[in-house]
Amino acid sequence: MKLNKLEKSRVLFSKNIEIFRCAICKDHMMVKNNNSLICSNGHCFDISRKGYVNLINRSSNQVYNQELFEARNKIYLRGCYDPLTKELIHLIELYLPMNHQKYILDAGCGEGYYLNQISKDKKLYGTSNFVGIDLSKEGIRMATRGNSKILWCISDLANMPLKSDKMDVILNILSPANYEEFVRVLKKDGIVIKVIPEPQYLKEIRALLGDRIKRDHYSNENVMRVFQSHLGLIAEKKLNYQWEINESDLRNLIKMTPMTSRLTAEEIETLVIRKISSITIDLKILVGQYKS
Ligand SMILES: [Zn+2]
Repeated sequence: MKLNKLEKSRVLFSKNIEIFRCAICKDHMMVKNNNSLICSNGHCFDISRKGYVNLINRSSNQVYNQELFEARNKIYLRGCYDPLTKELIHLIELYLPMNHQKYILDAGCGEGYYLNQISKDKKLYGTSNFVGIDLSKEGIRMATRGNSKILWCISDLANMPLKSDKMDVILNILSPANYEEFVRVLKKDGIVIKVIPEPQYLKEIRALLGDRIKRDHYSNENVMRVFQSHLGLIAEKKLNYQWEINESDLRNLIKMTPMTSRLTAEEIETLVIRKISSITIDLKILVGQYKS
């Protein structure tokens, strides 16, 4: 019998239920036949027909929207961030033994591109379980279009529905972190891999827009300091490359970057489109481990 997405997810959540805890009372959970996760105090979370579980009791954030995730997904599918995906797989394989079953969590996974790609890796596929968490319902709904072997959850990163000391890898890619929760759910021998933008990231767009773009007071020094106050830094790696871009990809790229959010569509057309033929991807990857 061929299982549909909901049934597959019920099986998957049942198999992995021991890592979950109730988002409300933090008690154990079990999977009920009526396709829901329920805790011993009766708090109930439905598995959706698309195969994810909503573990928050309110509507998700307003900042991200369907259009942004669609634009991001188009750019991802063009391969712009493939060198990053390769590097993430390499780091997971480098720091963790391949012969034991492990949990890989993408915290702030958005539309799930990286986790979907990583879960296809031959070595990781057989030895890993994958959990994707994001606050955005639109993001998680898109994520479920991919690999049905991933436990997709809508949840607040500040209150993850996971028991302590369960994750071998926590990925946090170009997304805000919650280190208290990361340290809580991370196994003592696990690793956190965080990806942050570096100063040259999309410099071509910045150069054209000058004063018109949002002045980001983003400082990598500050990010590094906060990272290292919670985790021991065991490696850092720079990833810098050029990517050729056509007009339609450039429009999608602009939609997905917050720095152009104050510009009108007309300004974007006249100031940017047709003026850029390649962009710079400049990232830093931090690898941290539990700090005793
Ligand atoms: Zn509960």
